[in-house]
Amino acid sequence: MYKLAVIGGGVTGLWAAFMGGDNTVVLEKEKTVGSNSLSSLWSIMPPLCGDMEEECIRAEKDYQDICSDLGIFCKDTHILKLDGFTGKGRQIEKNEIRTFEPQINAEHAELFENGMFIEGNEFFTRMEDSLNIDKGTVVTKVNSEGNFIKSLETNKGEIKAEKYIFATGYLTKALLDLDVSLFKGHLIKTRRIGLNGIVIYKGRIAVEGRELYLNGDSTKTDDTSVNYESVNETISIFSSILRIDVQNLTVSTGFRTVSSDGRPLVRKVFENGVAITGFKFGFALAPVLAREGVKLLNIR
Ligand SMILES: Cc1cc2nc3c(=O)[nH]c(=O)nc-3n(C[C@H](O)[C@H](O)[C@H](O)COP(=O)(O)OP(=O)(O)OC[C@H]3O[C@@H](n4cnc5c(N)ncnc54)[C@H](O)[C@@H]3O)c2cc1C
Repeated sequence: MYKLAVIGGGVTGLWAAFMGGDNTVVLEKEKTVGSNSLSSLWSIMPPLCGDMEEECIRAEKDYQDICSDLGIFCKDTHILKLDGFTGKGRQIEKNEIRTFEPQINAEHAELFENGMFIEGNEFFTRMEDSLNIDKGTVVTKVNSEGNFIKSLETNKGEIKAEKYIFATGYLTKALLDLDVSLFKGHLIKTRRIGLNGIVIYKGRIAVEGRELYLNGDSTKTDDTSVNYESVNETISIFSSILRIDVQNLTVSTGFRTVSSDGRPLVRKVFENGVAITGFKFGFALAPVLAREGVKLLNIR
């Protein structure tokens, strides 16, 4: 019997397992960890986290710590918003913009200095090495008595733990009776061009790590197909300000999972089980949600 079983090896599940301590197992249905969370831009932008700015700042500290402990590439960086100014940042003009991003030719921008980027692929690889993850394990049913989980049914047989954290993200509805909506977005990866920070333009975001990552729409749907019209728009928007290699790119889709009240999901769904997931900036909030989930179950 495990002390804690975490269902789902996306970013939230891995953080939950990391905070869960010894004798914790992650049950992930895919053969690799990350799955949906790999189609994220892996950025934290506290000034744009709305009323969760404090949580995003706290999350940056968690990521700084884990990046340094596990040797994951992370960078503290600026955010340049080229339109739709919020008034919360500092207004800068052409010459100063060039000192941050020499290749961007814009007259005005709003500058924030406290953004962060985490190389997601490395995050998942390093976390996988340091956690007990049972890949290819699909949880098909929760066996409960009253409001108490007795065990989980999986494709590999029954699994028991004292406590359970459901970090099932975009597949939450298939396992638990919770009202969540999915917002699909696409991630474009292409060759690096020397972008220094996070750039936001016409609702699209660009950031560079081991590759250049561009991210676009957020549409309420559970359809997994690529919306090429939207992908082309993202490419066209960034091509107007950056020299992007449009010949060698890959595109994937992913989901943001949002609960009906528009808040992140951290809910005690059983006496010994908590559901946590996602939100629109769910990569950023993952350590914060994981900590709250672990606390709700009185673990550690
Ligand atoms: C294009 C795009 C860009 C984004 N950029 C950012 C960003 O820059 N910053 C940010 O903060 N957020 C961003 N997000 C949002 C962020 O990626 C998501 O909120 C986050 O990945 C959600 O993670 P999660 O672990 O909660 O859920 P998921 O990623 O949905 O993970 C759930 C996991 O559970 C597994 N699972 C589900 N059901 C079962 C089962 N029954 N048995 C076993 N395993 C199961 C799944 O296989 C999956 O691995 C972006 C999203 C998209 C789509």
